[in-house]
Amino acid sequence: MQGTYNLALVALSFGVAVMASFTALDLAGRVRAARQGKRRLLWRWGGAFAMGTGIWAMHFIGMLALQLPMKTGYDLGLTALSMLAAVLSSALALGLVNVPRLGGGRLLAGGLAMGLGICAMHYVGMAAMEMPTRIHYDGALLWLSVLVAVSAASAALWLAFRLNPGSDRPALGYRLAAALAMGVAICGMHYTGMAAARFPLATGGMASDALSSIHLAIGVALVAASIMMAGLVMAVFDAHLASHNARLAASLQEANAELQAMVMHDPLTRLPNRLLLEQRLDAVLAEARRLTLPFAVFFVDLDRFKGVNDSLGHHVGDALIQAAASRLKKALGDDGLVARVGGDEFLVLTFAGTDRAKSAALAEEMVALMTSAFCLDGNEVRISCSVGISCYPDNGADKHELMVHADAAMYQAKAAGRSNFQFFEAGMTSAVERRQVLEKRLRLALEQGSLSLAYQPKILVADNSLTGLEALLRWQDEELGQVSPDELIPVAEETGLILPLGDWVLRTACAQAAAWSTRFESPLPVAVNLSAIQLNQHDFVKQVSAILVETGLDPALLELELTESAVMQNPERARGILEALRKLGVTLSIDDFGTGYSNLVQLKRFPIHRLKIDRSFTAGVLNDPQDAAIVQAVMALAHSLKLDVVAEGVETEDQLDFIRALQGQQYQGYLCSKALAPLELEAFLADWQQPGRRKRA
Ligand code: C2E
Ligand code: CA
Ligand code: CA
Repeated sequence: MQGTYNLALVALSFGVAVMASFTALDLAGRVRAARQGKRRLLWRWGGAFAMGTGIWAMHFIGMLALQLPMKTGYDLGLTALSMLAAVLSSALALGLVNVPRLGGGRLLAGGLAMGLGICAMHYVGMAAMEMPTRIHYDGALLWLSVLVAVSAASAALWLAFRLNPGSDRPALGYRLAAALAMGVAICGMHYTGMAAARFPLATGGMASDALSSIHLAIGVALVAASIMMAGLVMAVFDAHLASHNARLAASLQEANAELQAMVMHDPLTRLPNRLLLEQRLDAVLAEARRLTLPFAVFFVDLDRFKGVNDSLGHHVGDALIQAAASRLKKALGDDGLVARVGGDEFLVLTFAGTDRAKSAALAEEMVALMTSAFCLDGNEVRISCSVGISCYPDNGADKHELMVHADAAMYQAKAAGRSNFQFFEAGMTSAVERRQVLEKRLRLALEQGSLSLAYQPKILVADNSLTGLEALLRWQDEELGQVSPDELIPVAEETGLILPLGDWVLRTACAQAAAWSTRFESPLPVAVNLSAIQLNQHDFVKQVSAILVETGLDPALLELELTESAVMQNPERARGILEALRKLGVTLSIDDFGTGYSNLVQLKRFPIHRLKIDRSFTAGVLNDPQDAAIVQAVMALAHSLKLDVVAEGVETEDQLDFIRALQGQQYQGYLCSKALAPLELEAFLADWQQPGRRKRA
C-alpha cells in the first residue's frame, strides 16, 4: 500500500529544510571570517547542529505529512540515533569543505559525507518507526535517493564554498542558492526514499514505550521553531554585524586617508611638509632633466618670529605662521609649491621652466608681501622674511645639493640684514656649518681676546650735546673676518656662550666707562645690551654689583638695555630682578621698542627709565605712514608715562626733524656717528666739543 500526503506539511518540510540549510551554511561560512579559535569552534558546531536538526526535523515533518492507514509510533533510541547521525555527518561535511582553497576532491568528499548523512538519518529514522508491518524497499529507488542526496548536497556545498568569489563569507545570493540546493538534497532524498518504501498492509498497535505521532509532532515543531529562531537571531545579528563592519571599514578608510595626509602635511598650515616636498622635488627634478629646463628651490625664514612668539604667546605665533604661509602661497601663485619645514621655515619649489629672472621676481614678491603688517588677535604684528634661492642646474644637480644651497643662501640673506633675498654663490656655507664654525671660533676669541667694544654716542635732540654711549660688540676674526653681532649673538645664546661673553662685555664696558669718567670733564654713562639668558641667571644682580665694585664705576653711569621679550618671558621674575638692579642705582631701558608688541602700560609696571624706538621704525617715518604713526603713538604714550625716549637709527636730518617735532628727547644714529672704537671715540669727542662743531661729525 501507499499513503497519501498532506501537501501543506510537505511544503513546510521543504521550508524547514531550506531554512535549516541557510542557517547552517551561514554559520559555517563565518568560520572563515572568524579569527579567534573559540569563535571558529562555535560557528562550526553551531552550523553542524543546525544542519543536523534541520534534516531531522524535515524528515519527521515529512513523515507526518504521510497519512498511513495504520497506527504508527517511533522508537526513542533509534530516533535519537538518527538525529546524531545527521549532526555528525553535517559536522564532517562542513569541516571538509570549509577550507580557504576548496579542491574538487574535498568537495566530493564533503558532498558524500553530507548526502550519506542525510540518507543515514532517513533510514535510521525509518527503522525507528513502529508499526504492525515491516517496510520493504524498492532497490532502484533507494539508490536513486542516495544519488539525489549526494549530488544535491555537493551542489549546495559547491555553491556556498567554492563559487563564492570573496575570501570571507559567501555573498547572500550564494548562500540562498546553496540553501535551496541543500533543501532539494534533503527533501529530494526523503521523498524519493519514501517512494522506495513499501508498507505491506497490516493492522495492530505500536509498542507501548513508543512515541506517539502527536508527541513527535510537538517535538518536531519545537525543534523546527528553535532552528527558525536561531536563524532569525543569526539574521539580525548578521545584519547588525554587516552594518557594523561596513561602518568600521568606512571609518578605517577615512582614518587611513587622514593618516596619509598627516604624514605628508603640516597640521598647522595644512601645507605639505618636508616629506611631500622632497617627493615633489624628485618629480620636478626628473622633468627638468628630461626637458633640460631650469627651476629653483627657495628657503624662506621669517625674521623676528621668535620675538612675537615670546611676547604675544604661542596662539599669536601660530596665527602668524598661518598668515605668513598664506602670503607665501599668494606670492607664488600657480608657479610652485610651498612647504613648511620647521617652526618659521618654509621651502618653496618652483616648477620646471622657472628661470633666474622669474625666481628673483617671485622672491621679491614674497619679501614685499611679508613686510606689511599682520593683524592677529587685535595685535598689529610686523615681521619680514629672508629668502635664499638655489637654481637648477647651476647651483646643484641633485635634491640634497639644491636644498643645502638654498639654506646657505638664506643664511646669507639673514647676515645681509634680513628682509631680502640672495641667490646661492660658491663659498656660501649652510646655516648649520656656519654655526659650527662660529661656535668654535667664538670659544677661541673668548680665550684669546679678539673681541672688542665699539661705542655709539647718544645725542640730546634739543642742543646736540652728548648724553651717553652704547657699547656694541665687535669681532674681527682671523678666519671669518668681521662678524656682525646680529649673527653672533643668536649663536652665543644657543650655545650658552652668551654668559661668558656677556660677562666680558659688561666688565669691559664698565672698566672703559670708569677710565673715561676720570678723564672727561662731564662723565658719559655707558649702556650695555643684555640678553634674556643673562637676566635669568639666579645671581645676575650680584654679578653686576661685583663688576661695579671691581671696576670702580659709579652705578649711575651704567645703563642696561633689555628687549621687551626678555622682560615679558617671565614678567614676575623680571620685575624682581629689575627692581634689585634699580636699587643698585643702575639705569634701565627697553631696547628695540615696537618690535616686541608688548603693551606700554604693562611695561610701566617695570621700573624702567627709557624706551628706545627700534631703528626699523625710524627708517620708515618719512615714507611709511604706518611707521610714522607708530613712532608718534609711542612718543605720546612715553611722555604721558614720563619715560625718556631715544630714537634709534637716525640717519638723515629729515628723520631728526620728525623726531624733534614729536619732542623726542634723544637720538642715536649714523647722522651723528656710527659706533666707534675707544681711540676713535676719544678723537670724536675732542672734535665734537669744539665750539661750532657741535652740529655734526
Ligand atoms: P641694537 O642694540 O639695536 O644696536 C643698535 C644697532 O644699530 C647696532 O648694530 C648699530 O651699529 C646700528 N646702528 C646704529 N645707528 C644706526 C643707523 O643710523 N642706521 C643703521 N642702519 N644702523 C644703526 P650692531 O652693532 O650690528 O648690533 C646689532 C645688535 O646686536 C644690537 O642691536 C644688539 O641687539 C646686539 N648687540 C650688540 N652688541 C651686543 C652685546 O654686547 N650684547 C648683547 N646681548 N647684544 C648685543
Ligand atoms: Ca641696544
Ligand atoms: Ca636697538
